[in-house]
Amino acid sequence: MTRFVFITGGVVSSLGKGIASAALAALLQARGYRVRLRKLDPYLNVDPGTMSPFQHGEVFVTDDGAETDLDLGHYERFTGVHATRSDNATTGRIYSEVIARERRGDYLGATVQVIPHITDAIKNAVLHDTDDLDFALIEIGGTVGDIESLPFLEAIRQLRNDLGLERTMFLHLTLVPWIPAAGELKTKPTQHSVKELQNVGIQPQMLLCRSDRPLPENERRKIANFCNVRPQAVISALDVDTIYACPISYHEEGMDNEVLRHFGLPHEGEPDLSAWSRVLDAMRNPEGEVRIAVVGKYTSLLDSYKSLNEALIHGGIANRVRVKLDWVDSQIFEDGDGAVIERLEGVHGILVPGGFGERGSEGKIEAVRFAREHKIPFFGICFGMQMAVIECARNLAGIRDASSTEFGPTDQPVVGLMTEWAKGNELLRRREGGDLGGTMRLGAYDATLVTGSRVAEVYGTTEIRERHRHRYEVNIHYRETLEETGLLFSGLSPDGILPEIVEYPDHPWFIGVQYHPELMSKPFAPHPLFSGFIAASVRQARLV
Ligand code: GLN
Repeated sequence: MTRFVFITGGVVSSLGKGIASAALAALLQARGYRVRLRKLDPYLNVDPGTMSPFQHGEVFVTDDGAETDLDLGHYERFTGVHATRSDNATTGRIYSEVIARERRGDYLGATVQVIPHITDAIKNAVLHDTDDLDFALIEIGGTVGDIESLPFLEAIRQLRNDLGLERTMFLHLTLVPWIPAAGELKTKPTQHSVKELQNVGIQPQMLLCRSDRPLPENERRKIANFCNVRPQAVISALDVDTIYACPISYHEEGMDNEVLRHFGLPHEGEPDLSAWSRVLDAMRNPEGEVRIAVVGKYTSLLDSYKSLNEALIHGGIANRVRVKLDWVDSQIFEDGDGAVIERLEGVHGILVPGGFGERGSEGKIEAVRFAREHKIPFFGICFGMQMAVIECARNLAGIRDASSTEFGPTDQPVVGLMTEWAKGNELLRRREGGDLGGTMRLGAYDATLVTGSRVAEVYGTTEIRERHRHRYEVNIHYRETLEETGLLFSGLSPDGILPEIVEYPDHPWFIGVQYHPELMSKPFAPHPLFSGFIAASVRQARLV
């Protein structure tokens, strides 16, 4: 029987609802239950694929090629369960579905309304494909009180009636702020936030209260009393040094116990949290530190590189070192050589991440050149790999005008738009100037690695599958010319047409990949490329 835990947030946004949901899922999983997490987003975009990284942070791509909210990245990192397209629904998606059905005449002449038609579509999105689970955790984006989230709250209110108390639970995340002038933690915002929920007919059974210091027993009782929950179900969510401390911290506060109690499930005994203890031990007791420069464009908004940031931390866990990230705006390298040397001198590794558009690209090319010439470990991801190839074409192969068609027409399209490619037995096509939404090469694709190459050694296999999100590709027609300079095309699509990986065998560690390995990395199973890159940086720092 699948039980549903609905997670809402109140008082302010950015309290870490996604991480709280993921941590609860990890705790239930550690007790042997099968879990799945879903996110309902109240905005009108059909998916976050077309939203600016400044607005929305990273777009997380699933195996089946959906562009989703970055919280799905947390879900995967905490549970190891791969998300699918159906695990993220937005208002835009729900409305397009309902309007498409209305046009088809599916509603048989009925007046189509928010209740019941939109709410029914939301309920379907929640219930769809959950039969083989013990728990489905459904996070509602936004903050209670927003106009946008009302249909979602109404839908989950109805689900409570449809499924019954034994199969549903409402968990509300709030803030208990410390007021320095009063010298007190204040519970009033929490009380108001719960009232907002009660106004729409939802009574939470558990409150997760974020605060920067322990919640005194008195305040806990007060919250319980005013908000109509058991005192044991007022869980204090203290600020922690790393997000990976949340499962153990919530467990110590009795969260999983209380959830199981609510559902009438056995809650004696302890969950197996040994994997989380190992992760924390490696993070809290590092044997050294490496400094990695991440040369990108959206460096002022770290949320746009969420998975990358986490994957680098995982690489540190694998090598028991602290990874200190130095976010560098590539544009500073565009006014001459001095800036590059000054900024990158002494770093132990250089990473050029994914990106879009011409702005900042010349600076990224300069960073690649510096890493190649100074033999500093280099990792290029997606756009970073494309810039590495352009750098090679210009500075080693003498193709002065080498460029990407992403930046406009060019005589030397070393990176160019692919209009056709194979996915399994299917041929996928796109048009130049077509829609921007959902038209990239998206999701998991197979690649074959060259035997004996560094990547084959890193992965320990020659057959891999990784997630993609890009429109442009390195042009295979340049392969021979570029390989003559010493750049090896060490991974290709199974049909041999799309370059997936390039490397310099005579460099200590220089790998560029067309896909996004950061999306697959987990704290308890760091991605081999990130472990390998950090290991090379450790050697560069002469820590071994
Ligand atoms: N802008 C490049 C492309 O579309 C790279 C995309 C990326 O780095 N994700 O191919």
